[in-house]
Amino acid sequence: MRRTILVFAECRDGKLRRVALEALGAARRLAGADGSVHAVLAAPGGAADEAAALAARGADVVHVADDPALRAFAPEAYIAALRAAIEAVRPDALLLGHTAVGRELAPRVAAAIGAGHVADVTAIDETDGVFTRPLYAGKAFERRSFTPGRPWVVTVRPNNFEPAETLPAGEPQGTVQALPFTVPPILTAVRSLVRRASGQIDLAEADVVVSGGRGVRSSAGFEPLQELAGVLGGAVGASRGACDAGYCGYALQIGQTGKVVTPQLYIACGISGAIQHLAGMSQSRVIIAINKDPDAPIFSVADYGIVGDLFEVVPLLTEEFRRTQS
Ligand code: FAD
Repeated sequence: MRRTILVFAECRDGKLRRVALEALGAARRLAGADGSVHAVLAAPGGAADEAAALAARGADVVHVADDPALRAFAPEAYIAALRAAIEAVRPDALLLGHTAVGRELAPRVAAAIGAGHVADVTAIDETDGVFTRPLYAGKAFERRSFTPGRPWVVTVRPNNFEPAETLPAGEPQGTVQALPFTVPPILTAVRSLVRRASGQIDLAEADVVVSGGRGVRSSAGFEPLQELAGVLGGAVGASRGACDAGYCGYALQIGQTGKVVTPQLYIACGISGAIQHLAGMSQSRVIIAINKDPDAPIFSVADYGIVGDLFEVVPLLTEEFRRTQS
């Protein structure tokens, strides 16, 4: 097994996202001991630190695309940079994070180069080159394998792969080089970026997610959940029921039409467990459900179930976690 793998090293605010390092780790294993791993860094201004971090964590070559068009998210410019890297490297697979950016770029790059595309991959069999992705809210799994001759474009689900570690001292590090590419006419105009002021940890990358459903009853009902998430260093999510009721913004929605999360710990509070919600969280490592209805379907996917009123249970949990941490 000897493969050439290209990774799109996604950044946010000029910093590498954790999923970029996870994709790099997956790429290193998929390439095999004799294979090679290349990373594309779209970095207006160079981002020397991020390029060096990739080279120190196992990218044999870091290709830096540096152009002002990459400053705002203009998909045409990113696709042009990725196509230039694919042309130069001729990889067996291009790996991207299954993020909003990755989900936009991957199918467009695949279509542009006539490659196969597999999205939302949660496991890779490195020996046989088989990608696994969940279907039907995790009830079934699809396995797709490499066909020789054409590259695969693959998005990997955040929080599913071990991130690439820094190479031990003395091991040769990768090289960093400029990626020449031509910026095409940009058809997408980003007029402004509106950021949430909450400073909340990225839901897709959080190790702990505390989610509220219609059972929280109001936006103030989310406060105990925020406190619990704060103590655990996690993020707050929601069901669509809670979003539709106006208790929180749709940015928090988890599920089929929301975000897909795979944290180490998912705590569902006052969420019934509709199939569309399960589609976004059923692959979490450990699931705790708190619901006052013992027959709520969420208990069928939960590792631990607490039948009770969330307004009593959540503060008790918060207090207990705070006590064990102090
Ligand atoms: P409910 O089903 O009303 O459940 C509330 C739960 O809270 C109940 O189980 C109740 O027992 C419990 N409860 C009430 N009070 C308390 C209390 N004090 N303490 C403890 N428990 C309490 N849903 C999503 O979540 N994500 C999606 O992405 C999504 N996409 C959809 C796409 C489509 C096309 C469609 C048709 C639906 C989608 N839905 C989605 C909606 C989904 O079908 C459910 O309607 C929704 O998930 C229900 O939200 P809920 O569990 O918060 O509310």
